[in-house]
Amino acid sequence: MCGLGIDVRTGVAVTGLETRDGRVSAVVTGDGPVPADIVVLGLGVRPNTALAAEAGLPIGVTGGIPTDLRMRVLDTDGVWAAGDCVQTVHLITGQPVHVPLGTHANKQGRVAGINIGGGYATFPGVVGTAATKVCDLEVARTGLREQEAEKAGFAYITATIESTNRAGYFPDSALMTVKLIAEQRTGRLLGGQIVGKAEAAKRIDALAMAVWNGMTVDEMTMVDLAYAPPFSPVWDPILVAARKASKMLHG
Ligand SMILES: Cc1cc2nc3c(=O)[nH]c(=O)nc-3n(C[C@H](O)[C@H](O)[C@H](O)COP(=O)(O)OP(=O)(O)OC[C@H]3O[C@@H](n4cnc5c(N)ncnc54)[C@H](O)[C@@H]3O)c2cc1C
Repeated sequence: MCGLGIDVRTGVAVTGLETRDGRVSAVVTGDGPVPADIVVLGLGVRPNTALAAEAGLPIGVTGGIPTDLRMRVLDTDGVWAAGDCVQTVHLITGQPVHVPLGTHANKQGRVAGINIGGGYATFPGVVGTAATKVCDLEVARTGLREQEAEKAGFAYITATIESTNRAGYFPDSALMTVKLIAEQRTGRLLGGQIVGKAEAAKRIDALAMAVWNGMTVDEMTMVDLAYAPPFSPVWDPILVAARKASKMLHG
């Protein structure tokens, strides 16, 4: 990956670690041992709510503290919670989710503070927008992934396209892949993912706005996105993806 010698293996379980002279020497996998000097485990995040549970606060199905829209802990009086320790609601599925991100922690903290101070503010929930970068590869997502749409019971189509971040003839234009997931019956955008080398990840914000506002892929095809050669092809990759999804829905 990224030309840096990173060997990505998917669908392979890690079953143990081998040591030599008290130091790790290999990761044991279903694919055989992989020599290693250092092992970093990235296994997901769980809310640390032990203190809250000991204090008698409710703990939700996700393991996070459940709150109302104003970030007041459910079934309590004068207790407020925000950030990685709380669960929130996914605005597409309506289900409780634990999405520990700084973007939510900041908004929830602000909402809690306003309410504690006697004002009125609400945190509506999340659509699961996130972005990251591995070497020079940008990756972003919003809404539901296919597995999540499946689990929630949606019948959906997916449309994947490849395009460029700038006009193809422009210097340093780089490829990006956009994948959309749309509800079969209504055409509503359920989610999207973008992978690319440059100026790819933050394009997810346009998809996040579409998901947040319940737009259909048909509506998205003619949205007035900016075009100039240094910034995008004349059809932005998001519009190209929406057109493909629309065509798949209507034949
Ligand atoms: C490596 C890394 C990269 C990240 N990158 C992103 C990103 O790019 N975008 C994004 O949106 N989010 C990102 N996050 C997630 C983001 O940092 C968290 O969601 C956010 O910081 C949560 O805020 P918080 O206030 O709930 O918790 P924290 O920021 O963890 O703050 C909790 C505080 O409580 C203190 N504390 C804990 N227990 C006690 C106790 N018993 N008594 C007193 N104090 C206590 C802790 O020391 C800490 O200071 C990243 C997280 C990590 C680890």
